[in-house]
Amino acid sequence: PTGLPKPPRRRIMCVANQKGGVGKTTTAVNLGVALAMSGLNVLVIDLDPQGNASTGLDVDHRAGTLSVYDALINEATLKEVAQPVEGMPTLKCVPATIDLAGAEIELVSLVARESRLQRAIEAYPDEVDYVLVDCPPSLGLLTVNAMVAAEEVLIPIQCEYYALEGLGQLLNNIDLIKAHLNPKIRVSTILLTMYDARTKLADQVANEVREYFKDTVLTAVIPRSVKVSEAPGYGQSVLTYDPGSRGATSYLAAAKELAERGAAGGEQE
Ligand code: ADP
Ligand code: MG
Repeated sequence: PTGLPKPPRRRIMCVANQKGGVGKTTTAVNLGVALAMSGLNVLVIDLDPQGNASTGLDVDHRAGTLSVYDALINEATLKEVAQPVEGMPTLKCVPATIDLAGAEIELVSLVARESRLQRAIEAYPDEVDYVLVDCPPSLGLLTVNAMVAAEEVLIPIQCEYYALEGLGQLLNNIDLIKAHLNPKIRVSTILLTMYDARTKLADQVANEVREYFKDTVLTAVIPRSVKVSEAPGYGQSVLTYDPGSRGATSYLAAAKELAERGAAGGEQE
């Protein structure tokens, strides 16, 4: 892959949607790999106790492994808990272990409970072009931490029935975060996922999303593809598992668009 433009400064994006199974993790992993393959420095932070992004990037996340939990609850730094991703010199992953399931409750009694991730990211010393935070499927304190840390929200939307259900609630929450905790947060990017060209429904959903979110929606659309769903079983992204597949080329195209928009400023209101 050819080089993509570096953003003028670190871009921190959270991949969020409180619905499960819409492609958050798949998107965080594959965009992270696509950006890193193009020479950009990327940190993927797994913020879901399920640890699926850690699995997808093949980093250790057994119970007891230093993880994002230690950076949120204990005094560990992200530098200490980040792990290299094999074969990707510019990609690191902060794993999530099952401990994180308790963090949602443990955070409640801690000082600065909403901004612990922000502080950890701010203190991360290495050069990073992109920080991608893979959120859990809820709007609890973990997702709040991601939205306080980030300037951008990337919302994957599955091209299926009920895809838009719950989006209002997500947008309301982002507005609340913006009003009270992080004035810089905005929905910068919508990515249509699991698009099945054979169904009329997929087109209907895509059109509806584009009508409402306009240019926020990336032109690149991720097709429903078996290769995309098989790759994590081998601890790989679809880009390394089957580089020629449509899943791979579509995630590369999405990464290119994201990077080009980011380099163009991306400061629009
Ligand atoms: P989330 O993180 O939002 O819960 P995932 O990224 O884990 O969603 O995706 C849910 C399931 O759908 C996973 O099994 C994943 O492998 C599969 N999947 C994601 N994107 C695609 C795609 N484009 N085509 C086929 N399967 C996909
Ligand atoms: Mg997930």
